[in-house]
Amino acid sequence: MNKYKKNDLTGVKKYRSCTYIERFHLNFNGLNGHQINSNNKGCIEFCCLSLAPGITLCDTADESIKSIIKKRAEIITESKMFSLLDKSDYDKIRNFTFACAKCPYFNEMTEGGDGLIHFVNINMYPAPCQSKCIYCGVHNGKSGVLNRRLHAECYENMFNAIEWARDNGMIATDAVWQAASGEITIHPYKDRMFDLMKDKDAKFLTNCFIFDEKIAAILGANPRSSINLSIDAGTSETWYKVKGVDNFDTVMDNLAKYSASCIRLEQITLKYIILPGINDNLEDYRAVIEIMKQLKIEKLIISRDNRFRIEKLIISRDNRFRHKLDKEKYSLTDKATGYLAAMLKENGMIAENGSFWPDEYEKVSALANELLESNKV
Ligand code: SF4
Ligand code: SF4
Repeated sequence: MNKYKKNDLTGVKKYRSCTYIERFHLNFNGLNGHQINSNNKGCIEFCCLSLAPGITLCDTADESIKSIIKKRAEIITESKMFSLLDKSDYDKIRNFTFACAKCPYFNEMTEGGDGLIHFVNINMYPAPCQSKCIYCGVHNGKSGVLNRRLHAECYENMFNAIEWARDNGMIATDAVWQAASGEITIHPYKDRMFDLMKDKDAKFLTNCFIFDEKIAAILGANPRSSINLSIDAGTSETWYKVKGVDNFDTVMDNLAKYSASCIRLEQITLKYIILPGINDNLEDYRAVIEIMKQLKIEKLIISRDNRFRIEKLIISRDNRFRHKLDKEKYSLTDKATGYLAAMLKENGMIAENGSFWPDEYEKVSALANELLESNKV
């Protein structure tokens, strides 16, 4: 690699990268992070995968932001260097792109980023939540127990780094700001998050167990703000199975109240995490489409149970595990997703890819089209 000097790289415009790196996504994690000592100090990662590159937060805000800028530059530089190598040199040691090189999102792209941060995700844990979603470990592990004395350091490091980046003009004006840290309405730091995000393209992930007047006020004052509910069900029976709390009617009332507070209908967004055997039946699909019609929501983000995604990443790139991959053309999740996507389309609605790999989503879209063409929905 030493044979390529840095200035040889200025003309390199095509290299392997991903939108998270190019658009400079900052995911602030704590106990849920993958960097050394992130449970105490907090960390920044470019994406939410377990192999995500990133940095541990530092004691000073400028050090934290400068070190993630350096990490991004190192990844891009190394990737540019690899783009100049012959295939016979592909076994060269990767220092900064080791994890990304295995990732399905790391593909050839044309350089185009402006170097500014385009996504700020407050995803710090521990963070409290009253729900007991079956796909989430918050309610049965340390992730849900936030002690303001013990965990102040990682939160302070995060807020200081965000404020420093903002005050130094490093966050793009069209950046999306997301609060994903447990349940925002009961979060001890919620007012600080509201202050940071109230006039931004702000997205609050909420379970809607509680109607929060401050969130409603932000929705009413800032048309660029939104909430997202992972609805995962269309009936109260399925909601209880998925969430472990029997409060579907309250949640639907709260959702309607938030909707009434909005300036634009698009400020309410819904996600449906496919759980084969639990919420992938026609009754729930029909009922969630009815809810969408009542709230005049046209798009549903379809996602999957992320507990299995890490496994797929490792397996799909390691030949020793290839025999364990699903031999069927469509997995249970593919089929369930295909049906829901087809039913949405049939009703003039849009299915958006939540967190499927690009190849999986192509497969699911093809299945949805097959179902529609053969009148099977
Ligand atoms: S692991 Fe994949 S998604 Fe994450 S930063 Fe690397 S290439 Fe991007
Ligand atoms: S609402 Fe979110 S944080 Fe709470 S249990 Fe469900 S997935 Fe976990």
